[in-house]
Amino acid sequence: ELHVQEVTAWLERANENIQENKEYLTTLDQAIGDGDHGINMARGFQEVVNKMTDQDYASVGDVLKDAAMTLMSKVGGASGPLYGTVFLKMSVAAKGKTYLDHATFTNMLEEAVKGVKQRGKAEVGEKTLVDVWAKMMEFFKQNADLQADDIAEEAKQAMNKTKDMMATKGRASYFKERSIGHIDPGAASSYFIFQALAEVVG
Ligand code: ADP
Ligand code: MG
Ligand code: MG
Repeated sequence: ELHVQEVTAWLERANENIQENKEYLTTLDQAIGDGDHGINMARGFQEVVNKMTDQDYASVGDVLKDAAMTLMSKVGGASGPLYGTVFLKMSVAAKGKTYLDHATFTNMLEEAVKGVKQRGKAEVGEKTLVDVWAKMMEFFKQNADLQADDIAEEAKQAMNKTKDMMATKGRASYFKERSIGHIDPGAASSYFIFQALAEVVG
């Protein structure tokens, strides 16, 4: 069960992971994009944490909504509105909840995946962050009793699977076949977010 305190800890841990891996995300985006994904995500998640710090949230939905708004306005690029959508859909599904159980969290992921697919007009297999979120949604749906290591491992595998895909959405799609052989930057940042989740539940 994740209460307000654990959800804020999740976002703080996600921010730490992203700050630590800012250069790595930049390197990935240099290969098949414009090299700003590390900067975009580091800026956005730092703002999420800054905003959260002096707030007293009544519900998990409120935390996630605040995060969504900040990501939407501060990340920029293609990923800003997409991550904004992910967190906004999760916040709506968590509206009024003081804690998240497995069923609620699974439903949040379902809504997030639906929303981000719609927003980016992307499906699974197009080498985007959708590949990680959709995989994790399925994973939560199929497993009621999840261990921290399993969550992190599943997300890592989903990220690594984007390496062999050809990008058909976003900037990476301009690289066509040359996008193959590189991990998608958005899939990598999504992995860091789930790795942070694993640390909080574990
Ligand atoms: P930009 O491409 O505008 O520079 P970023 O570098 O911050 O934005 O983010 C790039 C990431 O956004 C990609 O690695 C991919 O995961 C994700 N992305 C881009 N376009 C889409 C889309 N249409 N649907 C889903 N995800 C996308
Ligand atoms: Mg970029
Ligand atoms: Mg850009």
